[in-house]
Amino acid sequence: MTEQRFSCTACGACCYGLLPLTVDEALKSAHRFPLAMAITPIKPGARGYRSAGSISASVVLPSKKTALLLVTPVSFIPTSMPCPELAGDNLCSIHIDKPVRCKAMPFYAYKDEDHQRDMLVPRAGWQCETSADAPVVYRDQKIVDRGDFDEERNALLQQAPALRRHVELLFKHDTVFSTRVVKATQAPLAGRVVIGFVSFLRYNKELNLMDFARKQQPVLESWARKTAGDAKVAQFHQYYREAVSDLDRYISV
Ligand code: SF4
Ligand code: SF4
Repeated sequence: MTEQRFSCTACGACCYGLLPLTVDEALKSAHRFPLAMAITPIKPGARGYRSAGSISASVVLPSKKTALLLVTPVSFIPTSMPCPELAGDNLCSIHIDKPVRCKAMPFYAYKDEDHQRDMLVPRAGWQCETSADAPVVYRDQKIVDRGDFDEERNALLQQAPALRRHVELLFKHDTVFSTRVVKATQAPLAGRVVIGFVSFLRYNKELNLMDFARKQQPVLESWARKTAGDAKVAQFHQYYREAVSDLDRYISV
């Protein structure tokens, strides 16, 4: 029997940087997080992504090879900066209502259940407890208390068809986007393409886009101000500025 132990000491260290969200969470968080859509190629044979086909898009590259792409709404924040909901005491200010990605920590529903062991090894600077004092959370490659993992996995499965359709259409009809994706598949380390979240919403007839844009634009503007003049986060700054002007068209109509 193999067992891994883990408990969270609430150090807040994992609340920095990019945070994957479900589509529903992103829509509800327009007033809170600077939103984007991240498209990440899965390297062929990557460990832990055996069942990735069920939650990803699939495109045929110029080389005729097929690439799987994970498509994820995200709170798009540089690794060096904290989530806006991380309070001064390092606790989450929306604990009851926090995204399922945060609830499912340390597990990661984008990967197969039998490949979660790596997720239980704290990264440098993380103060997760993994000693004999911590409870067993993973036994024989199975998650002991799997409620939050299943909730995240089910949300990913449910939203996959709409995200898949969106990205596969973009890849077919938008050459700038497809060129960026092809380049990302060729990157030696994991490449990633980031596009505006609103691009996914344009075709959602039930959504009040003006309302969404009015909530989201001030958030993006504030992140553009926070990241101005810092070369290390220049790509984020440029994204925020472009996303702000992209939303203008919905606010001015
Ligand atoms: S929502 Fe809360 S738990 Fe999630 S990253 Fe932000 S502060 Fe951390
Ligand atoms: S880094 Fe580990 S201990 Fe710190 S908040 Fe995240 S899960 Fe908890």
